[in-house]
Amino acid sequence: MKIIAIGRNYIDHAKEFNNPLPKEPIFFMMPETALLRKNQPFFYPDFSTDIHYEVEVVIKINRLGKNIATEFAHRYYSEIGLGIDFTARDLQKNCKEKGLPWEIAKSFDGAAPISNFLPLEKIGDINNINFRLELNGNIVQQGNTKDMIFPVDQLIAHVSKFTTLKIGDLLFTGTPAGVGPVKIGDRLTAYIENEKMLDFIIK
Ligand code: ZN
Repeated sequence: MKIIAIGRNYIDHAKEFNNPLPKEPIFFMMPETALLRKNQPFFYPDFSTDIHYEVEVVIKINRLGKNIATEFAHRYYSEIGLGIDFTARDLQKNCKEKGLPWEIAKSFDGAAPISNFLPLEKIGDINNINFRLELNGNIVQQGNTKDMIFPVDQLIAHVSKFTTLKIGDLLFTGTPAGVGPVKIGDRLTAYIENEKMLDFIIK
């Protein structure tokens, strides 16, 4: 399986970094070894001193597809979850300045904690889902999927133009504003509506 992650998909987050709004979705890949399941602790890596959290709605692909049309994209998923797209902001800044790929800042082991998945029918409209992240009990990120620049179905159409989607692939759909650093000892909890999806510590 593969993990596809979308960058800059919420206006307020793109503005945080003074990034121009994208004209089409930006995506990058993470390897399976980036996943962290079952609320296992995240071990702060020694190659960075500026790891940031980014909470994101994650779509699980349930059918094989290529060149999927936007109007049929909803047939390719039925479950959603939450993930954290941990980012070594110091390494990413360095890569960006040099015009290099971001992989070392995004794709390292454990960079993508992932929740269990909920059936979408239980939650409702994919384009109106509230989610939030708490750091040590304080809300730091709050989003609603209606604020995506490119809605989920457009993301699937775009990504599948370039890469075949397979059963079990995960699509991280971008983060809203409020990203920030973590430190050892912090606890992250994340919710879809009022359902607790993630609860783990930084070690
Ligand atoms: Zn992200």
